[in-house]
Amino acid sequence: MASAYKYLFGPVASRRLGRSLGIDVTPFKTCSFDCVFCQCGCTTRLVAEREEFVLFEDVCEEFERWLAEDGKADCITFAGSGEPTLYSRLGELIDFIKARTAIPLIVLSNGTLLHRITVRDELLKADVVKVSLSAWDNASFKKINRPVPGLSFDQVLAGERDFRNVFPGKLWLEVFLMEGINADEDQVRKIAEASCGIRPDKIHLNTAVRPPADASARPVAKEKLEAFCGFFTPCAEVIASFVADAATERNVDVEKLVDLVRRHPATAAELAQSFGAELLAISPLLSDPRLQTEVRGAETYYKCR
Ligand code: SF4
Repeated sequence: MASAYKYLFGPVASRRLGRSLGIDVTPFKTCSFDCVFCQCGCTTRLVAEREEFVLFEDVCEEFERWLAEDGKADCITFAGSGEPTLYSRLGELIDFIKARTAIPLIVLSNGTLLHRITVRDELLKADVVKVSLSAWDNASFKKINRPVPGLSFDQVLAGERDFRNVFPGKLWLEVFLMEGINADEDQVRKIAEASCGIRPDKIHLNTAVRPPADASARPVAKEKLEAFCGFFTPCAEVIASFVADAATERNVDVEKLVDLVRRHPATAAELAQSFGAELLAISPLLSDPRLQTEVRGAETYYKCR
């Protein structure tokens, strides 16, 4: 990117999306969940009310500027510091973007607001919507997702099912599994059973490879995740490491790097991929005082203090 943006970030090298331009319209960290596995850290604003957190016109202006200055990405993804469907003008923003580019538009949502018909209608024009399901009943839901008071497991599941019935695009389901929390065979079978009603096009199994909000969220071994894939219909996929194939930005700006890491903890190698730069170019920037490291398994992740 040629100049700084406030609501746009990346493009980020993503394990499942390719090079994804992120759009973040919720302030850090505003969500209807406070998941134990969240890579953004603990939710500081646990809400279910929608709001125009940032000015619609400002986001539109930034997007048009990005199209003029760069305009290259595999997809445009609503994601970042919280739950994007909490943004009250999300539907208008989707319309605005779809009227200006053919780049596929993805919404990464936790699915909690899909029991509202207005939210379902707003997402209909997206190409892909990703929703989540990592629990099998209200007790596990409360333990894993720590939802805003008043939100039940059944409500979220019904909303995701109702959305499937009207959504013409691709619906993906992400199941986040953690050792000692929801990764016993009988627990995964119950999640798989609940997921049948959602009828997703794809199911992704994820685990806590990046630093989570709660240290109790321990990763599940890849082999164990792979053994769970066949429990799901359609057969699930373990999200594999993304390998970048195109270098598009050589001059890495430290502000962009910090901005990216704030939303998405990453290893030095992943950052190098995201910026299309050599590791040697990234390394000096990683000593920025705003960054800290956390070791997960064999990897060292950079995140913001
Ligand atoms: S993982 Fe997603 S849904 Fe869960 S707390 Fe983080 S931003 Fe919210």
